[in-house]
Amino acid sequence: MPKKSRKFKTEVTQLLDLVIHSLYSKKDIFLRELISNASDAIDRVQFEALTNKKLIGKGEAWKIKITSDEKARTITISDNGVGMTADEVETNIGTIANSGTRHFLEELQKSKKGSNAEFIGQFGVGFYASFMVADNVTVVTKRAGSEEPAVRWISDGTGTYTIEDADKQERGTDVTLHLREEQDNFLQEYELRRIVREYSDYIGFPIVMDVTRTQKGENEGDEEITTTEEETLNSMKAIWKKMPSEVSEEEYNEFYKHVSHDYTDPLKVIHYRAEGTAEFQALLYIPATAPMDLFWPDAKRGLQLYVKNVFINDDCEELLPSYLRFLKGVVDSSDLPLNVSREMLQDDVVIRRIKKGLVTRVLKELADLKKRTPEQYETFYKQFGTVIKEGVHQDFENGDKLKDLLLFASSKSEAGKLASLKDYVARMPEAQKAIYYLTAGSLGQAAHSPHLEALTSKDYEVLFFVDPIDEWVTQRLTEYEGKPLKAIDRGDIDIHSAEEKEEKEAALKGDSETYKGLLESIQKHLDEEVKEVKLSTRLTDSACCLVADETGMNANMERIMKSMGQEMPPVKRVLELNPKHPIVAKLKASLERDSESSVLTDYADLLYSQALLTEGSPIKDTARFSQLLSKLMVEGLG
Ligand code: ADP
Ligand code: MG
Repeated sequence: MPKKSRKFKTEVTQLLDLVIHSLYSKKDIFLRELISNASDAIDRVQFEALTNKKLIGKGEAWKIKITSDEKARTITISDNGVGMTADEVETNIGTIANSGTRHFLEELQKSKKGSNAEFIGQFGVGFYASFMVADNVTVVTKRAGSEEPAVRWISDGTGTYTIEDADKQERGTDVTLHLREEQDNFLQEYELRRIVREYSDYIGFPIVMDVTRTQKGENEGDEEITTTEEETLNSMKAIWKKMPSEVSEEEYNEFYKHVSHDYTDPLKVIHYRAEGTAEFQALLYIPATAPMDLFWPDAKRGLQLYVKNVFINDDCEELLPSYLRFLKGVVDSSDLPLNVSREMLQDDVVIRRIKKGLVTRVLKELADLKKRTPEQYETFYKQFGTVIKEGVHQDFENGDKLKDLLLFASSKSEAGKLASLKDYVARMPEAQKAIYYLTAGSLGQAAHSPHLEALTSKDYEVLFFVDPIDEWVTQRLTEYEGKPLKAIDRGDIDIHSAEEKEEKEAALKGDSETYKGLLESIQKHLDEEVKEVKLSTRLTDSACCLVADETGMNANMERIMKSMGQEMPPVKRVLELNPKHPIVAKLKASLERDSESSVLTDYADLLYSQALLTEGSPIKDTARFSQLLSKLMVEGLG
């Protein structure tokens, strides 16, 4: 292949520009990224060799080597991993920008993380971190098992790169960085040693470096002795194999950063050995903050899977249900065959048993966390609560355990505090039969909803479901400890005692007689918008509200469907008027004085608009609404 010069895609150029000019802190993570790639490359060739022994020679040691050349001011990271063909080089580090490039750019641009490079690895663009410290990067690589010649890729990171044949014979990759001015410290042995220890100690392959030592001769006047030896810089400890008591918090945290590409410490470590129906070792982490890709459909998920110490893959989604996708870590099983394939993983009994074990354990750990350290649990819940709710919808088998993990704001909890269903039930007055909730677009909206009035007057607590997913959760969450869950903006809410009911019904009957004409007139005018106009028993202060059918779509659901681009045919709701509110009596009087007057139609529109506004729904004709309001104000001022 003759030497070719190519342009990076615009996005990669933008990314490199940012990497070179804006990322200042923690430049040393470039080495972590390159070592991680080298280790991935060895993992991959090992895995491919399970089915094609020819790929690797006999008795050859896996190795990642760092070479520093002070004169040339270069460092080279070499591996005997899988290598890349020319096409693979182009795809992986050349012209094609993967989806991570765009995501990373967006995050960098909008975040305060501005100068922080640590999270670059999360986006699958870690290789480019090299340009933080290098003004020229050369990659020479030879693909295992390929007849094609090796490839040399060179770039200074300013928009173009060259690619040509190279004469490397052995499989693997050498990445050589020519350091920028002022980055000379990375040539020093102690510095490289420190970085490897800090970030890459648990890498499963030796990371070696030639170390030259000069010793004085034994006697005065003897010549100095210089020796060069290859030293391994990392301890290579598979920490999940150790006993928890043997692992320090720092080791756990460092390993977490390695598997998660997160840069903060995890919230919780779950490390255990399972015995019985499924035997495996698991080291799982609950992150302290949700990763940016938690809800991206194209995000890479899953745990690292090892079989008898051999790395199989790092995105084994089959090990956990999707609602536990926030967990990071490693599972090592000796019950699986080494040559297990992707397809086999999908419905393998052993995998299913491990999964079951992991779910049980994780749910128990979360329940413990909630019980023992409620504050920590709240922190967790604020990050991952939405995902746990997916579980209520998906995992029927563990439904009860998952319900106990839920937290909600409520009409009785202090601002910012959350309550569990258990707390709620414990606080229920004796007469209360159901668990009441209100779904709304925001806490403010929920807290000021007219629907609360009747319940508040009875001192009943109402849970506020303000996460869009709650609307779906309610389809499964219909009961807790034998108590039905009931939406207060749907159908009739039955909260009164027999006597109260009798009294109310009698009053309502009387009122309905009195206001029959008024209700009919308003109904006639609003016929296209509402299903029915009737008097309310749920309001004490507000003039009106809208109520959905027991099964119909409520305002919140309608909003959610709209926001997802699903235009639904409008579902008419019932407009309830408060017979105790003075407006109702006054309207009646006005209707009786002059049934042709526009007052009634204007006011009916205003009442309906008000009801829409309080539940957070848009009003159809905003121009008419403001005209009516201005007119009313003028009249009010005489
Ligand atoms: P990630 O490692 O998250 O995929 P990187 O930017 O670090 O993202 O690397 C991009 C890709 O380049 C890798 O996925 C891999 O295919 C390829 N690559 C990088 N370094 C090596 C290496 N030493 N050997 C083989 N392939 C490599
Ligand atoms: Mg990488």
